[in-house]
Amino acid sequence: MTRNNFLAKVKRTIGAFFPVSPARRGACNNCGACCHIMVGRCFWLKDGDDGKQYCRIYPIRPLNCRKYPRTESEWVTRETCGFYFEQPKNEPLPTPENS
Ligand code: SF4
Repeated sequence: MTRNNFLAKVKRTIGAFFPVSPARRGACNNCGACCHIMVGRCFWLKDGDDGKQYCRIYPIRPLNCRKYPRTESEWVTRETCGFYFEQPKNEPLPTPENS
């Protein structure tokens, strides 16, 4: 399980200046889980009438919110998150034909 301790928060914040993993798939389902992982519930989080959660400053949200989950190792909300990371396919074993 990925930890969400102080060091992990610092790493996510700095990591947000780097690109999102090309293995990331899926989309945000507005579960709101990542809006609770920095300092408790985010001040800008709004509960929707549809049971989903929304950001009041979505167009200008911070970089680490914008890119979350950036990598699988930074992904601490996998129980409810709509994103996922594609696992690398196993390389075929070398054979006389392909080696
Ligand atoms: S945890 Fe994932 S699905 Fe939930 S709000 Fe954050 S990015 Fe969206």
